[in-house]
Parts: sequence; structure tokens; C-alpha cells
Amino acid sequence: MGLVLSVANQKGGVGKTTTATTLAHALALSGRTVLVVDVDPQGNATSGMGLEAADRSPAFAPPASECRPQESAWEGVMCLPAGRDLEHLPGRISPTALKDNLARIGRERFDAVLIDCPPSLGSLTRNALAASDGAVIPIQCEYYPLEGLVQLIAAVRQAATTNPRLEVTGVLLTMYDPGADLSREVEAEVRAKLAHPVFRSVIPRDVAVAEAPSHCRSVIDYAPRSPGARAYVELAAELLHRIAPSPCDRRTTDA
Ligand code: ADP
Ligand code: MG
Repeated sequence: MGLVLSVANQKGGVGKTTTATTLAHALALSGRTVLVVDVDPQGNATSGMGLEAADRSPAFAPPASECRPQESAWEGVMCLPAGRDLEHLPGRISPTALKDNLARIGRERFDAVLIDCPPSLGSLTRNALAASDGAVIPIQCEYYPLEGLVQLIAAVRQAATTNPRLEVTGVLLTMYDPGADLSREVEAEVRAKLAHPVFRSVIPRDVAVAEAPSHCRSVIDYAPRSPGARAYVELAAELLHRIAPSPCDRRTTDA
């Protein structure tokens, strides 16, 4: 599969880190080799997976220095942790620094690489998009997100001019409350109006999802039967199906 995905949205608190890490864990539990790359100066993916931020960000290490993935506390998930220098890097990094480093560590060693982006469309996110095959875009179902999405999708298009492989893999509805009119309205609007794929799987608002990182655990491990855990397992299955349909499905499509 060898797929590199940026989990991106310029808005904070929409579920980027939760999605990058939990989806990675779900993929690892289904037998895939997975790497999470934390390029957010806040380092929430790094700490949530039981690691400490490095002094220098391995994802943006210069060619002569080390950029080796570490084992995280989550079974089967490797990590390039955030660095304490990330905040000061943006003005100085080459637009292909991350892409070059993923080639250096051998991105093909991993079935999937998930890049957790900061809440901006600055050079860290642009670097992530330049290194990616696809963008996963989480949006929170608690406000009208379409205006922000236009800007984000324009950034993906811009990155695709130098990285033609890049596409919008899918928009992901997060923090969904099935009992709330607003969640249903946002879902209907996004599915009707967006000219890009929207994942069928929807991530519900679930307190277990919010609690899990403070225990350095994935919700799939912390509360495996919770609606949030089930939704991320479903999302991983949907993603795998989308990028590599089973032979059975291919026969049906070919017929
Ligand atoms: P971002 O990386 O986009 O800033 P996070 O993944 O850090 O967003 O999520 C923001 C906050 O919301 C975190 O405290 C997280 O634990 C919580 N959260 C994320 N997804 C859910 C969910 N499905 N249900 C409840 N809380 C969630
Ligand atoms: Mg985050």
C-alpha cells in the first residue's frame, strides 16, 4: 500500500491528532506497518503515544543527521516525534524536506504513513502535503465548515501543482452528535455540496476518545467497545477498502 496521508485542517480542535493517531493504531491492529509523523509544534500526537518531543525534529533533520523512527507505546505504531525546534523551523525549511526524509528512511517500509499537521496552512502543512499521496480532512460537525474547507482544498490544489499524486482522500466528519440538528445539517450540507470524497464512516462525539490520550492510550485500546473506537476501526476498514478493493469487489466492478 505504501500510502502517505496528511491529516490536515487549518482549524484547531477538529480531531486531526486524534484521527492521525487512532487511525494509525486501527491500521496497525489490522496488520499494517504504520508510521505517525508529528509535525505540529504542540506535539500532541507525540505525547499521546507515550513519547517525548525530540530536541530537533527528526522529520526535518538535515541530510547528514539522524531521522530514525521510534517505537511508540501503541502496539505496532512507529513515530517520528515532534521536535522542540518545530516552532522556529518554518522560515528555514526546504519545501521538500519531509518528502526527502521519508525517502531516506524508506517510506516503502510502511504500509501507511500518517502526518499530523499543525492548525495552519503554513510551511509545515505545505511540507506535509508535498510529501503525501492524499489529504484526510477532519471537520467538526458543530459549526458550518464549508468556508474553511474551500481555503484548505485550495491549498491541496496548490500543493498538487508540484506533487501531482496528491488528492483529497476524504473529508471526515468528527465529533458527530446524532441527536443534534446541527450535526445532521452539517453532514447533509457537506455530503450534498462538496465535490470531493467524504468518508462514509463518521466519528461520534465520545468522552472515551477525549479521555484516552491522557492515559497515553488509543481509544481502541482504552475503551474498545466505545462508539469512538468502533468508528475509527470502521474508518480504517473503509480506507483500506477504498485504496485496495478486495478481489471479490473488483470482480463485481469489472462485471
Ligand atoms: P486537533 O489536532 O485538530 O487540534 P484533536 O484531535 O487534538 O484536534 O482534538 C481536540 C480535542 O477534542 C482533544 O481534546 C480531543 O481529545 C477531543 N476529541 C477529538 N475527537 C473527539 C471525539 N470524537 N469525541 C470527543 N472528543 C474528541
Ligand atoms: Mg493536533
